[in-house]
Amino acid sequence: MINVLLAFGANLGNREETLRSAWKELETLPDTEAFQISTFYETKPVGGPPEQPDYVNAAGTIRTELPPVELLKHLQQIEYRFGRVRTERRGARTLDIDILLYGSEIINLPELTVPHSEMLHRNFVLRPVQDVAADWIHPVSGLTLSAHFAALFGKSTTS
Ligand code: ATP
Ligand code: CA
Ligand code: CA
Repeated sequence: MINVLLAFGANLGNREETLRSAWKELETLPDTEAFQISTFYETKPVGGPPEQPDYVNAAGTIRTELPPVELLKHLQQIEYRFGRVRTERRGARTLDIDILLYGSEIINLPELTVPHSEMLHRNFVLRPVQDVAADWIHPVSGLTLSAHFAALFGKSTTS
């Protein structure tokens, strides 16, 4: 089993309910255990189109034997099942699930970049991550995710 760190976000519909249900759906994926979900954090949207509603963000750890791209496909199916319509990048959505870390693998495929390219720059990602994976090591930097959170928090609390 590989330990995988996921980020969740929702800013349309019943956001908390969507995240709770999506988390339960992860249990139903083949060869996968949903391990630990963070507290839910309400955050202001960052970097998308203007006038979006606030987000609820969370992080979760799962254990899976699914290969990375297969896992991504399953996550995208869950997004669609919760009514996500892909319009503009970083636009409002009922559910977003990103793969932050997949074990210590470094993956550069057209459809999948792991570690997630923005994870170290986003408070709304690193804050929930502290609840479930503070001591995980980022495979590129070699630093813990708590060290990255401390570094980011020292600089800025807005992104
Ligand atoms: P961001 O990636 O900046 O958080 P986003 O989550 O809003 O933006 P999406 O529209 O959800 O972006 O996804 C765009 C594409 O990103 C997806 O179709 C997927 O193939 C690709 N992608 C690349 N790396 C990852 C990853 N680590 N996790 C999830 N999707 C990824
Ligand atoms: Ca995202
Ligand atoms: Ca995404």
